[in-house]
Amino acid sequence: DSKPYQLHVLFLPYMAPGHMIPMVDMARLFARRGVKATIISTPLNAPVFSKAVERDGQQGHDISIRIIKFPSAEAGLPEGCENLSCINSWDMHANFLKAMSMLQQPIEQILEECHPHCLVADMTFTWATEVADKLRIPRLYFNGTCCFSMCVLDSLLRYEPHRRVDSDFEPFIVPGLPDQIKTTRQQLAEYLKQTTEHEFTKMVNQISESEARSYGVLVNSFHELEPAYCEHYRKVMGRKAWHIGPLSLYNRNIEDKAERGNTASIGKHECLRWLDLKKPNSVLYICFGSLLDFPAAQLREIALALEASGQNFIWVVRKGELRNHEDKEEWLPEGFERRMEGKGLIIRGWAPQLLILDHKAVGGFMTHCGWNSTLEAVTAGVPLVTWPLYAEQFDNEKLITDVLKIGIGVGALEWSRYAKKILVRKDDIEKAIVQLMVGEEAEEIRNRARELQEMARNAMEEGGSSYSDLTALLEELRALETSKRESAAH
Ligand code: UDP
Repeated sequence: DSKPYQLHVLFLPYMAPGHMIPMVDMARLFARRGVKATIISTPLNAPVFSKAVERDGQQGHDISIRIIKFPSAEAGLPEGCENLSCINSWDMHANFLKAMSMLQQPIEQILEECHPHCLVADMTFTWATEVADKLRIPRLYFNGTCCFSMCVLDSLLRYEPHRRVDSDFEPFIVPGLPDQIKTTRQQLAEYLKQTTEHEFTKMVNQISESEARSYGVLVNSFHELEPAYCEHYRKVMGRKAWHIGPLSLYNRNIEDKAERGNTASIGKHECLRWLDLKKPNSVLYICFGSLLDFPAAQLREIALALEASGQNFIWVVRKGELRNHEDKEEWLPEGFERRMEGKGLIIRGWAPQLLILDHKAVGGFMTHCGWNSTLEAVTAGVPLVTWPLYAEQFDNEKLITDVLKIGIGVGALEWSRYAKKILVRKDDIEKAIVQLMVGEEAEEIRNRARELQEMARNAMEEGGSSYSDLTALLEELRALETSKRESAAH
């Protein structure tokens, strides 16, 4: 069949904000480039991005959402728990993964029915490569992080240097990488250190296998940010990768930016008017992503550090985090908000992060080094106070502080998820904040961040590296489909 056809790509995002947000941006970007894009989602996740998708549709882009049921009850989760952001323990986390695995059958059914030309699936869908093979279509893998962290993980799994040190605190070099990247066993994910067939360890191995067998990897990053690692991934690890970010830049109008990952409209965000009253680069923005639950005692240390630092701030505290201590407000030192009036603002719930980072009053971002937050800061030219906690965040921190040199660490030592203890003390937090916001070194760091901002924006413009990588990928997908049609015709 030599008739012209439209490339159809099906997108399968993981139900966690840090994975769903960039993949939805990606689907929208593909649609803008002429692809028919279908996103699979669930009843309670879809509303978070359906308005943006609708607006794209009105502009003539071919994009739609297919809703499937999420088996919360069947997997032992509370009713309405369809997103990782409702999860606060390892046990619930395991049930969430069980629910994810139960999605295979309904998704396979949709795939067979609409037979797309390509499947873009998040890393958590470990069965996706196999299913795509059955349909004879390429599966592209997405894990939401940078090339740097993928290279670090590969070296750790390949050489297991952590098994050759005597203590959890002894620094060692991750072998085989372009830079001398040092870490400790304490900073490695629990599931990497397990020797037994631990549930999460098994999962990591399955993920890494399905990545290796996939057609290639889509990376939300840009070549100029980590050139040596893009090279390493392609040449040394021998895998295909396309750098097509920063994907957040796809959001150009104010509604898109405000609603990204959220159903609230822009009218709700008085924090932007508050920022208008502040001097350039004078406000520190603090947010630890969409999943973290700090205990009350740790939140207090942060509050005390903010007050002592003397800096203006916007601090986002998650609703899930507050659930345990909201009524008593025991997480805030006595009279804190009264004393901080005009100086600091606490947002309880979801913040319009892209708009805050883009505001000229914001001069620093204290982050857990989630990859989206990191890249959004780079894209806005904002330097970072780094406080990694779990997932691959310690790797991302090393990219920020040691390779790119656009941040100062609070000195986080220990990988920790669902922990209930104080991890970093007030004095260390305060010291890092002041070092990033004030003085000569701060100015140098800010200048480097600005240079990267410029490169990030150029990468996404027509002719830029990310734009061209996506062009190359779309051409390759079309060529694959065309040759399939030709061989079927003969
Ligand atoms: N985010 C936001 N407002 C919030 C918290 C998070 O817009 O109050 C967005 C943030 O801009 C980013 C994503 O949620 O796009 C968080 O992803 P990241 O990889 O930084 O961290 P994770 O939540 O996966 O730990």
